[in-house]
Amino acid sequence: MFIAHLPAGYLLTRFLQRKLKTTKYLWIGLLASILPDFDLPYFYLIDHRQTLHHEYWIHLPIFWLSVSFLAVLIFFFTKNRRFLLISTIFLANIFLHLILDTFVAGILWLYPFSHVSLRLFTVPARYPFWGENFAFHWTFLVEIAIILWAFIVLIKSWRRKGESKS
Ligand SMILES: [Zn+2]
Repeated sequence: MFIAHLPAGYLLTRFLQRKLKTTKYLWIGLLASILPDFDLPYFYLIDHRQTLHHEYWIHLPIFWLSVSFLAVLIFFFTKNRRFLLISTIFLANIFLHLILDTFVAGILWLYPFSHVSLRLFTVPARYPFWGENFAFHWTFLVEIAIILWAFIVLIKSWRRKGESKS
């Protein structure tokens, strides 16, 4: 997934807010929805594209599973509801990012047991620029659908806010 991470994160966070009965922490969900791609500057500028960017620790499910385990432990001992809300919204969005990247990009779900990058669909290399290969593939329509869906939810929530003010 390339451009739909943020709108997908918005949709998931709004859903979680409803379930968890809170109106807070939207920005935490949005940040987490794109956080794994913070390895991109490193990929281009420092590593000079030596390692596939989805193989950095920030894109590894095993890393985030360990963080989740730690979060569960912390909650178990502290019983802090605020911590529970923040970590649930944060980690759910991280895993959403990894699931969406599994669509065509590929994620090392079985690492460290296997180095196989798992993906649902392979985008054939038809054009010289990789971006074109993805933009002209049918899976890109899914990204556009997510963006439109998020846009509709956003407009609806603005309207509701406007109505409650007037
Ligand atoms: Zn990613």
